[in-house]
Amino acid sequence: MSRDIQALLSRMTLEEKAGLCSGQDFWRLKGVERLGIPSIMVTDGPHGLRKQQGSSDHLGLFDSVPATCFPSAAGMASSWDRELIGSVGVALGEECQAEDVAVLLGPGANIKRSPLCGRNFEYFSEDPYLSSEMAASHIGGVQSQGVGTSLKHFAVNNQEHRRMSVDAVVDERTLREIYLASFEGAVKKGQPWTVMSSYNKVNGTYASENEVLLTRILKEEWGHEGVVVTDWGATNERVDSLAAGNELEMPGSGGYGDRKIVEAVKSGMLSEEALDRAVYRLLQLIFKSVNAKKLNASYDRDDHHALAHKVAAESMVLLKNENSLLPLSPGDNVAVIGAFAKKPRFQGGGSSHIHPTRLDEPLAEIRKLASSSASVAYAQGYSIDSDISDAALIDEAKMAAASADAAILFVGLPDRYESEGYDRTHLRMPANQEELIEAVAGVQKNVIVVLMNGSPIEMPWLGKVRSVLEAYLGGQAVGGAIADLLYGLANPSGKLAETFPVKLSDNPSFLFFPGEADRVEYREGVFVGYRYYDSKHVKPLFPFGHGLSYTTFDYSGLKFSKISILDTDTLEVKVDIRNAGTRPGKEIVQLYVRDVESTVIRPAKELKGFAKIELQPCEQKTVTFTLDKRSFAYYNTRINDWHVESGEFELLIGRSSQDIALTGTVRVESTVALPLSVHRNSLLGDLLNDPRTAPLVGGLLQQFQAGMGMSEGEPAGGEGMGDMFSAMMRYLPLRNLVSFSQGAFTEEMLDGLIAQLNRAG
Ligand code: BGC
Repeated sequence: MSRDIQALLSRMTLEEKAGLCSGQDFWRLKGVERLGIPSIMVTDGPHGLRKQQGSSDHLGLFDSVPATCFPSAAGMASSWDRELIGSVGVALGEECQAEDVAVLLGPGANIKRSPLCGRNFEYFSEDPYLSSEMAASHIGGVQSQGVGTSLKHFAVNNQEHRRMSVDAVVDERTLREIYLASFEGAVKKGQPWTVMSSYNKVNGTYASENEVLLTRILKEEWGHEGVVVTDWGATNERVDSLAAGNELEMPGSGGYGDRKIVEAVKSGMLSEEALDRAVYRLLQLIFKSVNAKKLNASYDRDDHHALAHKVAAESMVLLKNENSLLPLSPGDNVAVIGAFAKKPRFQGGGSSHIHPTRLDEPLAEIRKLASSSASVAYAQGYSIDSDISDAALIDEAKMAAASADAAILFVGLPDRYESEGYDRTHLRMPANQEELIEAVAGVQKNVIVVLMNGSPIEMPWLGKVRSVLEAYLGGQAVGGAIADLLYGLANPSGKLAETFPVKLSDNPSFLFFPGEADRVEYREGVFVGYRYYDSKHVKPLFPFGHGLSYTTFDYSGLKFSKISILDTDTLEVKVDIRNAGTRPGKEIVQLYVRDVESTVIRPAKELKGFAKIELQPCEQKTVTFTLDKRSFAYYNTRINDWHVESGEFELLIGRSSQDIALTGTVRVESTVALPLSVHRNSLLGDLLNDPRTAPLVGGLLQQFQAGMGMSEGEPAGGEGMGDMFSAMMRYLPLRNLVSFSQGAFTEEMLDGLIAQLNRAG
């Protein structure tokens, strides 16, 4: 098989080249038989393989071959475990090899802007650093097996409402710091073989035709070497998208797109070099996959199920555990209540919906762990398909609960509540499930709620229950993982990768989501998730980074490698963590950075490091973080680059974004001077704050002060006049030197001063 791509390219006709730029059908790229270019297969993703052999669709309607269903991204991210996510990637890669799939369509790195987004279960986090780290590990794992990934949906696809037509309007700093940053780290670290352009427009241009996003930022700035593929059906104008850097149109459009490309090249509207560049990347992708193909590959379903079990147990988050109700003892008599105990919700709806190799039922797994002398009663409690309470089911549940030591309630969101394709309109669970919780809590004080949902819900009943375990959409081994956690065979170690607000209206995007007609403005700016709740002092129900364990951890010994650095240096931060309890456990240590004083508006704190460590009882380990310029920088739109403002930064080490255990301060000096642009309306205060202009302006002001009879320390007009003068001068534009000096300072002198000040930069 030829691997000299340039030579191959030169032998292709215009039609063959254009043809390679779109799919042959739903899931396959075209090949060119006469040149020995094979056709490869791509398929969904991201938490399991959805290979369709019969009818095809991109909405999860038709069946697919059996594959391991891992927890969806919302759960996986709650593990905060890079290595673990990497091992899921490896397993997915193995399954792709076994099924002859070249590229897995995932992971998704869109930011959870609003908890209403129907696809949040497929995304990692509200925080770009955590999200990009998780995505990079997923990509690394899959690609280590010689299978490509498709980092999606690039970019600013944060709602399902009008997803194919909406224009996401977002200012550049927010775009860079939040929405693109989530992709940037994953592209740079993971180098995904493909990136999927999203359906929506970004600032007026369809993502699939957005040259700034696809060429200038993704390819040129971040160095992406792979192919950009459209989301399924995202192509608007094929020639525009190709010119913008979108090499592949999926699925094939019956040859329409290809013909448009041929015509455009013939008429000179599109250069053949642009087409060649696209085909070159496509050929690279095809041969990379062909060369990495493992013949007769297979995988062990039991091993992958065991991995799914492990990941699920690490992903679930113990939100509340009053009086240490959990873990249960095997001898406890329990009432297991709720239809989800027998029919768990373990994955989300839409293109990621897969056909699991098997499914663990929570009730059966609980029965396995309870001792033979203990009673494990079951009551259905509600119907999954309805929101209306059934009095008989509730009575039955109350009876079972009343005679047990504890009631375990399985509740959450049914499939119809959240899915790809549409958003939620509220954060409540079905009314019949909420009523069930209240009814059971009325007869049993030891209530444990196990939640199965893809994103946050409101919990008006929270005060009435003792324990809450957030199981998210836990994949096919959900039942076993929940049972292990309830009985303490596993110690909960997940933490929230998103904030749970008390109520929907607390969410920063609430007023602007999902926008007006085909326009959604991201007016909350960089204040997404905890960046908002912490800065605005809005108390969440459960903060970002929160999660309990059956043991406790002590934090001590915060140390920095230096107390002052340049922004070109790196800083090492060390902290000692000790397991202070009696059980082995894992802790997720979080590092946040706060700019103590800033001239730009910045969030109260931002996550810049995290580590998950395992500790035996009494064991202590030192965690080391390395921070660099990006950890302290904001995106400066004047210089179109990341910039650190010199000054002090607080480093906050926490168990969650709101439970900060240790704090220290470091000084960071910028090595980049922002360009000076002094004009008639520059303010004296700003010029005094800039060390480059301060001496000149300060000297001038002293002359003015003297001229007005005010000398420092000895104000002519009484106590404090000197200070008042300085304070009032701060907001005075330079031009007023002329008018307020009564002609002593002339316009010509002003021009000279401005020129001199600009030279100081
Ligand atoms: C989804 C993608 C998916 C594609 C193929 C689209 O509807 O947005 O995430 O990969 O279909 O199924």
